[in-house]
Amino acid sequence: MFKLPDLPYAYNALEPYIDEATMRVHHLAHHQGYTNGLNAAIEGTPYAGKSIEEILGSISPEDTAIRNNGGGYWNHSLYWQIMSPRGGGEPGGALQEAIDKHFGSFADFRAAFKKAGLGRFGSGWAWLMKDGDRLYICSTPNQDNPLMSFVDCPGTPILGMDVWEHAYYLKHQNKRGNYIDDFFDVIHWAEVEKRFNKA
Ligand code: MN
Repeated sequence: MFKLPDLPYAYNALEPYIDEATMRVHHLAHHQGYTNGLNAAIEGTPYAGKSIEEILGSISPEDTAIRNNGGGYWNHSLYWQIMSPRGGGEPGGALQEAIDKHFGSFADFRAAFKKAGLGRFGSGWAWLMKDGDRLYICSTPNQDNPLMSFVDCPGTPILGMDVWEHAYYLKHQNKRGNYIDDFFDVIHWAEVEKRFNKA
């Protein structure tokens, strides 16, 4: 059975960038819903007892309930971790060097990541990916993610940004770009760098 992971900070900790009401409903309603849906979808199947990474890596596009709920479970588990009340700024260190090398500068990376988030029509995610020595940006629809072999950009995400309206609508209404700008003020670069070093 998968369990809703605790937030690593209080619901109001990301104010003023991400508001408390959004965090509460996002974690307690949406993420809990994906967790329950995932447990219901794998019960009595060969996926029961497997890790979420194993499950997402082996499903097919037609496994709709596991695809949507398992994706939602994993995506949000990452999303809470890569934000922090002490976040924002620039990563520094080896990750900063890699970003400079692959995108030109941190500002260029930020613009490209924002564009990926704005360009996702409807609901989905933007990802910063590491593939061997290479960093790149991609986006997936709905609750898909790069652990699924059938998406456009399979691989290892080290940063994920939720661009579903439920992630920002209470505070930012329809202004997804403002949410993305605020998201950059809470990115927990130390956590992203940990994933960068491990990938
Ligand atoms: Mn979400």
